[in-house]
Amino acid sequence: MRTLTTDVLVIGGGATGAGALRDLSLRGIRSALVEKGDLTHGTTGRYHGLLHSGGRYVVKDPQSAEECARENEILRKIMPHCIEETGGLFVVTPADDESYAERFIAACRRTGVWVEEIPVREALRREPLLNPRIQRAFAVRDGAADSFLATHANADDARRHGAQVMTYHRVTRLERVGDRIVGALCEDLRSGETVRIHAGFIINATGAWAGKIAAMAGLRINVVPGKGTMIAMNHRIVNTVVNRCKMPSDGDIIVPIHTVAVLGTTDIPVPDPDVYDITPEEVRLILEEGECLIPGVSRMRALRAWAGVRPLYKDQDAGNDRDIPRTYKLLDHETRDGVSGMVSIVGGKWTTYRLMAEHTVNLVAQRLGVTTPCRTADLTIEPSHDGAAAAPRAPARSQFAILASPFYMLGHRLAEVEADDSYGDLICECELVTRAHLEAAIRSDGTANLDDLRRDTRLGMGPCQGGFCTYRAAAIWHELRDGATHTVGAPPATALLRHFLQERWKGVTPTLWGDQLRQERLDELNYLETLAVDRLPEATLDAIEQPRDVVIEEVV
Ligand SMILES: Cc1cc2nc3c(=O)[nH]c(=O)nc-3n(C[C@H](O)[C@H](O)[C@H](O)COP(=O)(O)OP(=O)(O)OC[C@H]3O[C@@H](n4cnc5c(N)ncnc54)[C@H](O)[C@@H]3O)c2cc1C
Repeated sequence: MRTLTTDVLVIGGGATGAGALRDLSLRGIRSALVEKGDLTHGTTGRYHGLLHSGGRYVVKDPQSAEECARENEILRKIMPHCIEETGGLFVVTPADDESYAERFIAACRRTGVWVEEIPVREALRREPLLNPRIQRAFAVRDGAADSFLATHANADDARRHGAQVMTYHRVTRLERVGDRIVGALCEDLRSGETVRIHAGFIINATGAWAGKIAAMAGLRINVVPGKGTMIAMNHRIVNTVVNRCKMPSDGDIIVPIHTVAVLGTTDIPVPDPDVYDITPEEVRLILEEGECLIPGVSRMRALRAWAGVRPLYKDQDAGNDRDIPRTYKLLDHETRDGVSGMVSIVGGKWTTYRLMAEHTVNLVAQRLGVTTPCRTADLTIEPSHDGAAAAPRAPARSQFAILASPFYMLGHRLAEVEADDSYGDLICECELVTRAHLEAAIRSDGTANLDDLRRDTRLGMGPCQGGFCTYRAAAIWHELRDGATHTVGAPPATALLRHFLQERWKGVTPTLWGDQLRQERLDELNYLETLAVDRLPEATLDAIEQPRDVVIEEVV
């Protein structure tokens, strides 16, 4: 058994955990993070991608709206390369209650959420596919955020300041001596080895899983995992985030993310964050509601559906699950339960992750007697991990105006590929992933499978959903990894290929009609008839991300 000692152990490699790790390391506190999958393996990698202006919550949840509005400005400043400056619209469609608009504006003023009414014709000029029957339109400071990039950026910055990041390490037990938690036992999912981590303090940043971790120390946290399903359309049907101007509910928002647009979402309580399904009713509902914003959207090409689970914290006395506030809650187990050595941070939004981390680390620092203040709101995070791409090259930057923006701009990959004449090295044509991107990601620390490569580079996330890039990526993986001494025991490329195709298939299944069905049939013919993937030798998948038990009830 390996043993490790640290001042603070962070459990959970999502936005909150990585944010806390960066904050700790900037204050000079020795820290380590363990994550049972890849970074962003949990909700952070399965969210909608909206940098909230706060507009969605101004009426229903003003505290959350204020937090989002403040953090929105901070995140634009500290990590512009992870954010696309799309802007946002709240529009009143014929199906919406007109009186909500006045409440919305008044609540924006009260909560400090920037808003400006614009003429409907201007909204239609900006977004030509928008419902021409909308009655009013309000511009807000919504944006699109890349949580994969942002989480890696936080973790990399923490590493640069001395922190340790251990992915594929699952906490299996908390060690408690009397009324104090003193460490954790983890299983290294790649080697099977047990690792004992002695820690002066533990931050439970496991989101929807926080209750499971707390239970390991005999503590109770009432997390109600709220499942939300989203659908990716095959291109950017909008370039602005478009919201319905109404109380937040199912299917009322479209977010442009990189090359696609994401329709969402639902909110359904599930008993376990690891077991949930995507029902045909949800898919139907999201598309039907989408029609109010973009007429004809339900007949456009949908690529895939996927779901994530909100880490909603329910106070013992809270009523209906739907009314659980979207703000976050820091649980100090010493004052709450009489058990010292651990705090839990639950709830909140991706947009408020930095604030949640600051609040948490303030408490931990105080307990450890560290007085260095938080600096995460001021220090810019260096863009060290741009989807595993090298930092943007100077010649490309000077040649293409698009690359001059401090914010992420769609088109930068195309500009770079064209600048380098590297068309021949494209591995994933949909997302313009080059061989160089892939090689860098395969060589980077902690990458264990092709799904990790997807999170790093967007491999397989475009219209063909891995149809043409998966076998190329598997071949490069084989060249670089298989047989190398440092990966002995890891699954071979053939096993990873099958696993990746299976994961893509799960998401495509609920959207199998029209062009996507034709695409999937072509992919199937390629892989089963031409490449005979189903006859590849069986191999152990132990070190591959444990698949979530997503059940698709029936094909729509
Ligand atoms: C459908 C949906 C849409 C959303 N849309 C938005 C949006 O548009 N904008 C926004 O701001 N917010 C959005 N959110 C909310 C946001 O995604 C979450 O609040 C945020 O990602 C939570 O991050 P986290 O780090 O707290 O949790 P997570 O990202 O879930 O991280 C927790 C991590 O803990 C790990 N873990 C669990 N158990 C263990 C263990 N035993 N050992 C080691 N590791 C463990 C998990 O694998 C996981 O990676 C959305 C949420 C959902 C569900």
